[in-house]
Amino acid sequence: MIRAYTIASGKGGTGKTTVTANLGTALAQHGRETCIVDMDMGMANLALVLGLAETPVTLHEVLAGEAQILDAIYEGPYGLKVVPSGLSLRGFQNADPERLKDVMRDLTDRCDFLLLDAPAGISTDAVVPLTVADEVLLVVNPEISSLVDALKIKILTETIGGSIGGAIINRAILEDPEVNRRKIEKTLGVSIIDTIPEDPNVRRAAAARTPVVVKSPGSESSKAFRRIAASLAGFPIKEVPREVQEGFVERLARALFRREP
Ligand code: ADP
Ligand code: MG
Repeated sequence: MIRAYTIASGKGGTGKTTVTANLGTALAQHGRETCIVDMDMGMANLALVLGLAETPVTLHEVLAGEAQILDAIYEGPYGLKVVPSGLSLRGFQNADPERLKDVMRDLTDRCDFLLLDAPAGISTDAVVPLTVADEVLLVVNPEISSLVDALKIKILTETIGGSIGGAIINRAILEDPEVNRRKIEKTLGVSIIDTIPEDPNVRRAAAARTPVVVKSPGSESSKAFRRIAASLAGFPIKEVPREVQEGFVERLARALFRREP
C-alpha cells in the first residue's frame, strides 16, 4: 500500500501546509498512525498552524546530524505525529537533504501514513521530497499560475523518477466545479482526487492554530479533507468521526496510554 505522500505545488500559498495538517489530522482521527513532516526548511510553519509553540529539536537538527528523529517528533491533535522544521536560517544552512532518506525509513517504520509538506519552488530542498515519497500529491488552485507551476512539478517529478498520485484542487470558487475539475485534469494530465472549496473557516482555524477538521468539523472544507483521507486510507467516509467529540477524559486516557513511537 502507498503510505508516504509528498504534498507539493511549485507555487507558494496554494495550501500545501493546510492540506498536510488537515489530511494528517483526519487520518489520525480515524485511528491511523500518521506522521507529518515540515519539509519547508526555509519557511517552516507546519508546527505553527498546529499550535506547537515549543519545538526545540526539529528536522534541521536531524538533517544536520545533531539529533535523532525520535527527539524531533511532537504530538499534534488526535495523536498526530508532527516533525517540525526550525525557523533559524543557520539551521537551514546546516541541514543536509540527503539524510532525508534515512529519516523517511525511520518514520515509515513507525507510521501507517507519512505526509511531507514540501516547499515552493524547485531548489534542492524542494526537489528532494519529490523523490523520497511513494507518490506526490499536487495541490493546485484554479488559476493559471498555479496550474503552470503544478505542471512543472509534475514534469520534474517524472523526470527524476518520482511518481504523481493525483491532484487536489484547493480554494475552488467557481460555480460549476465539475467543469473546472475536467479542465484542470486535462491541462495537468493528472487525475483529480478531490476539490476543497474556498472556505473562511480555514483561515479562522489557522488563526486559532487548529486544523479546520477539528475547529469546524461540519464545514465544507472539512468534509472534503475527510473524503480525501478516506480515499487515501480506503476507509468509509464518516461525516464527523466520533473521535471529534472526544472529551477531556478520553484525551487524558489517550495521553496516558498512547503507544510510544
Ligand atoms: P502553502 O503551504 O502552499 O504555502 P498554506 O497552506 O500556508 O499554503 O495556505 C496559504 C493561505 O491560504 C493560508 O492563509 C491558509 O489559511 C489559506 N487557505 C488555504 N486553503 C484555504 C481554503 N480552502 N480556503 C480558504 N483559505 C485557505
Ligand atoms: Mg507551506
